[in-house]
Amino acid sequence: MPLIALCAGDGIGPEVAAQAVRVLDLIDAKHKIGFEYVEAPVGGCAYDLYGTPLPAESLEKAKKADAVFLGAVGGPKWEKLDYSVRPERGLLGLRSEMDLYANIRPAKMFAPLVDASTLKREVVEGIDLVVIRELTGDVYFGKPRGVEKYEGGKRGVNTMVYTTPEIERIAHVAFEIARKRRKKVCSVDKANVLECTELWREVVTEIHKEYQDVELSHMYVDNAAMQLIRNPKQFDVMLTGNIFGDILSDEASMLTGSIGMLPSASLNGKKGMYEPIHGSAPDIAGKGIANPIASILSMAMMMEYTFDNGPVAREIENAVAAVLEKGFRTADIYSAGTSKVSTTEMGDLILKELK
Ligand code: NAD
Repeated sequence: MPLIALCAGDGIGPEVAAQAVRVLDLIDAKHKIGFEYVEAPVGGCAYDLYGTPLPAESLEKAKKADAVFLGAVGGPKWEKLDYSVRPERGLLGLRSEMDLYANIRPAKMFAPLVDASTLKREVVEGIDLVVIRELTGDVYFGKPRGVEKYEGGKRGVNTMVYTTPEIERIAHVAFEIARKRRKKVCSVDKANVLECTELWREVVTEIHKEYQDVELSHMYVDNAAMQLIRNPKQFDVMLTGNIFGDILSDEASMLTGSIGMLPSASLNGKKGMYEPIHGSAPDIAGKGIANPIASILSMAMMMEYTFDNGPVAREIENAVAAVLEKGFRTADIYSAGTSKVSTTEMGDLILKELK
């Protein structure tokens, strides 16, 4: 039986997670898959119950499961806590303990929302790209690091490090995903000035020899940031290290409009954690107005990447597209002439399409 660990989290986390689970329940009944769920509290809610944002029991459940779904964690209630027990530490702990090295963030434009973007219609219409970001290496983890006394003042140090195996495994992920898409990978680096990314380029080029059906290009990160705004439709799969991907994936996500629309996956092989890219949105928590679509699309990614079920993933995406096409919107994507619906109503509408 496929086992899913559920970490609904804090703020709007449980509200959007509830709708995503309803969708998965319907998929389960329709296709007779037999999902089993296990609750694994992570974040502020876990701190309140157990005094830690990542209880050992939750971690164990997450590790045992085939896939993890996480709503969102954090909020003002826990902001004064020591850094080591903040809700966000629970999420980071989960990612590193599960060695989720491949972060996948699609940025796809749903046609009815084309005017919600801050960019011109002709630039964003039809965007369908995915950023594959390495998640467990780079300057965020490299040593030495820290702030030290230096020549009468101080100096701050972080170290950009990548090993060949780390680059190889993320390159394989990017090429495999490209094979199922438009077969184009653009690898992002700064090989003209950073030796670490010179190695990145060398290794990606080497791995590409195994994927001759996929087109590979290389781009310096500063140019990539510019090209994403100038002509985002040129990209299919963007492959990046941790820090470049951190920045570029946020840039890419905003091309398509609201943060409430965007799903993500963090993978290690078939195992993965799926989550909307937004946070716990304390400003709207409890009001029943959060957009559940990012969470529902995260379940679609789970079907695709962990359960190898592309057709069901498309079914979910098409149901979302159909509801948007009919003019239904949560408050964050509402515009004049459309019908405003609540979190649960959006869930109801998507379920109706799926039926
Ligand atoms: P946020 O993403 O929670 O909210 C930013 C803005 O977007 C808010 O105005 C919010 O109302 C809106 N928004 C977010 N998701 C929405 C949705 N589904 N529907 C409609 N509107 C939505 O970011 P923030 O305000 O910077 O952070 C709030 C808390 O969330 C903080 O504690 C932060 O640390 C945490 N956080 C958690 C995650 C995570 O769990 N993965 C990610 C980012 C931030």
